[in-house]
Amino acid sequence: MEPRVIVTILGTAQDAGIPQAGCSCERCSNAHDNPELKRYPVSIGVEGLDGSKHLIEVTKNLSEQLRLWSGNNIEQKIFIPDSVTITHLHLGHIEGIGQFGKPVMGLKELPIYLSQMNNDSIQKRNDIRLMIEEGNIRLLSRNHFQPTNDCGFTLEFISIPHRSELGDTSAILIKGPKKNLLFMPDQDSWNDTLDSFSVRSIRELLTSLRIDIALVDGTFWNLNELPGRDLSKIPHPTIEDSIHYLGTKKTNDPDISFIHLNHSNPVNDHDSEERKLVESYGWSICERNDTLSI
Ligand SMILES: [Zn+2]
Ligand SMILES: [Zn+2]
Ligand SMILES: [Zn+2]
Repeated sequence: MEPRVIVTILGTAQDAGIPQAGCSCERCSNAHDNPELKRYPVSIGVEGLDGSKHLIEVTKNLSEQLRLWSGNNIEQKIFIPDSVTITHLHLGHIEGIGQFGKPVMGLKELPIYLSQMNNDSIQKRNDIRLMIEEGNIRLLSRNHFQPTNDCGFTLEFISIPHRSELGDTSAILIKGPKKNLLFMPDQDSWNDTLDSFSVRSIRELLTSLRIDIALVDGTFWNLNELPGRDLSKIPHPTIEDSIHYLGTKKTNDPDISFIHLNHSNPVNDHDSEERKLVESYGWSICERNDTLSI
């Protein structure tokens, strides 16, 4: 079989995962009772042509996600990433970073790629400084890079408007030998994102970046979802709005799949009407363990 660059979906949930700490909602309660219904925070793994492994986002479920990525071959050792790339510093996207240090994996010089602003910001944490001083990790800021010489793909940070209390936010553009994939788990709104690229539509944005597959922010289904919380303080476009903007998938459209799903989002349930509606428009919901060949 010819070598391919393979992207594996390792987590589909918003930062909290499912079940969310302290939440008694039906979806979280069911996930406590049935491990099949657990969802890990958003993360993907990219395996290069040379067999090297590159993790995007490092969540609290790192242990399970590395096991999942390694597949079902019992003989095979669990993958250890050759590099890590981080979109932004919100909790769920970096919560597992301490596991690279001495108390857990004790890695040597693991390259962690992140924007210059996030690099400056995260180095203020004493635990991160300690891991750098002990030689577990190296923080690297490059806008566009190829993580190993023969991996066959490049990664590029694409700046995205999103709450920036801790640093800035990027989407990651992954250019493989055959396809380009955009990983965009968080954004404040399509309007802000489209404005920042000076384009008028989601299609124009994805066409301008030559995207074949887009994994985009699907945090909420709609704004009725979290009674008692001010959604203007946690802005994300809703899937309902996104599919309204997009309409039905046309022949030359990229594949668009929603990821970063909040525990309140009904599309987490496989048989929900909302998920069927998304699929009836020709779009999809990201599923853990799905693989994409790029
Ligand atoms: Zn997030
Ligand atoms: Zn819940
Ligand atoms: Zn975020």
